[in-house]
Amino acid sequence: KTWHQTGLASKILETIRKLNYEKPMPIQAQALPIIMSGRDCIGVAKTGSGKTLAFVLPMLRHIKDQPPVVAGDGPIGLIMAPTRELVQQIHSDIKKFTKALGIRCVPVYGGSGVAQQISELKRGTEIVVCTPGRMIDILCTSGGKISNLRRVTYFVLDEADRMFDMGFEPQITRIVQNIRPDRQTVLFSATFPRQVEILARKVLNKPVEIQV
Ligand code: AMP
Repeated sequence: KTWHQTGLASKILETIRKLNYEKPMPIQAQALPIIMSGRDCIGVAKTGSGKTLAFVLPMLRHIKDQPPVVAGDGPIGLIMAPTRELVQQIHSDIKKFTKALGIRCVPVYGGSGVAQQISELKRGTEIVVCTPGRMIDILCTSGGKISNLRRVTYFVLDEADRMFDMGFEPQITRIVQNIRPDRQTVLFSATFPRQVEILARKVLNKPVEIQV
């Protein structure tokens, strides 16, 4: 399978060429057609498998089809991950693609840089990558003034098993309840224990399941 067969936009393919990613990795080859068809998807895959681009590339295309995001709007794509390090990693992977596309991405986590995160959120951003706890803080303390979930139509839970182990289930549930039900949802997890399966059943709609 080649990148050209994926149907991704030429600007995305150009960035892929510059990064020297010769062909889609197995998780990407499997996940891209499913996610790009609009279906919910569960991917059981570990770090290093190429899972990040499997959910990022379809998200970029999804965003391109939406009306522009203006100041006061919340994001279209929302990605949740268990740790600040993973949020930073995903953000840096996304940045490699978004410059050429004119798409903004704001990382949201606690610690340093919070003031900048807030001012970028207020200006409006197409994508937010966040830890669940910090996102709840942002949504609650502002009463929707810093950011909101009204425009989220592409939702990703990354490393769902780790989020579960770290006790984030209540925060995930709370956020999910505030995202419109007609969203597309993608869940990635290194393992797929029963508790994650139960969570997935609550959050995803007729998902296609893939494993590498
Ligand atoms: P991930 O599993 O998403 O953390 O990705 C693992 C690493 O593989 C990252 O450093 C990516 O930059 C890289 N990568 C992602 N897709 C490809 C690809 N198709 N070919 C080569 N490297 C890739």
